[in-house]
Amino acid sequence: MKITGVKIYEVNIPLVTPFKTALRTVDCVNDIVIKLLTDTEEVGIGEAPPTAVITGDTKGSIVCAIRDFIVPAIRGMEIEDLDGICAKIKNCMQKNTSAKAAVDMAVYDLYAKHLKKPLYKVLGGHTDRVTTDITISVNEIPEMVADSKRALEEGFKILKIKVGKEGLKDVDRILAIREAVGKDVALRIDANQGWTAKEAVKIISTLEDKGVEMDLVEQPVKGHDLDGMEYVCKHVQTKILADESLFSPEDAVTLIKRHAADLLNIKLMKTGGISEALKICSIAEVYGVECMIGCMLESKISVSAAAHLAAGKQIITRADLDGPALCKVDPYVGGPSFDGALITMPDANGIGITNIEEALWKELQKEET
Ligand code: MG
Repeated sequence: MKITGVKIYEVNIPLVTPFKTALRTVDCVNDIVIKLLTDTEEVGIGEAPPTAVITGDTKGSIVCAIRDFIVPAIRGMEIEDLDGICAKIKNCMQKNTSAKAAVDMAVYDLYAKHLKKPLYKVLGGHTDRVTTDITISVNEIPEMVADSKRALEEGFKILKIKVGKEGLKDVDRILAIREAVGKDVALRIDANQGWTAKEAVKIISTLEDKGVEMDLVEQPVKGHDLDGMEYVCKHVQTKILADESLFSPEDAVTLIKRHAADLLNIKLMKTGGISEALKICSIAEVYGVECMIGCMLESKISVSAAAHLAAGKQIITRADLDGPALCKVDPYVGGPSFDGALITMPDANGIGITNIEEALWKELQKEET
């Protein structure tokens, strides 16, 4: 099975409610999706969200990277040469991790189809189900409390609370939510780089002193501020998860060696796809550091690829894969089933998505590249 070209589309899916973090407010998933074509007519699918505030990738840069650099570098290669293809994707250009991720997952989709196995089995097949949390956007306290209660009614048992916009006021947000949802609900707190190191220690310690248990606190300080990450890790009991500080396997080694994180948040859009994510998993296994798998605002294709990875690898103990739960419509047929908090892997080969409601897609180029 030889790679012959690519078709590139834009997809637009409205969200149930606007997604708000310390970095941005968004009201629809507007991603680039691709079909990677082969000489056997088997098709691999991939997706990349333009999350410029985190990865630097825009819609235009993703399309250009896929069309002009990545696919030309792998065209003509046999899908059996998985390692060779992944090395070409990684090395054909610097950065552009979202574009690389879209192509990499389409390659893995094809590779698993070639082996006639669901992707999660090819990646280790640790389990066939994954439990995700759901994001509670940063808003005024009453709205966040109401959103948290609604999430529990929908069957979620783990909440990911977005904070980081108003410093110490976040203590009141988290206290109010903990009081409203009770002790059995796990709270993950994501500051999205919004605190200083001293603020973070003050906020987390205050909550700890009040007996508020948190599963983890994610990226309290700027991604590049490893001194700050180290300082926070040293001065609080709660586990600190690196997100914006972690893109590559090299970042994982640095974070672990400096003890600048207790946990690692892997996202395919930061690593450049499954191949590099697997390297982070290996490093995490060596050091005994648990991982979370996360996503950007993505629809079901790329979140499904991430779910397959989570089901494949035992070291991924937490999942933050709520992209499809936040979307108003699901334009895809097949793939993992997303039923509230529970994601169940499919029996179908590859990622498992067999059909796409193309009404929501806009083809960006008529000619195959
Ligand atoms: Mg995060």
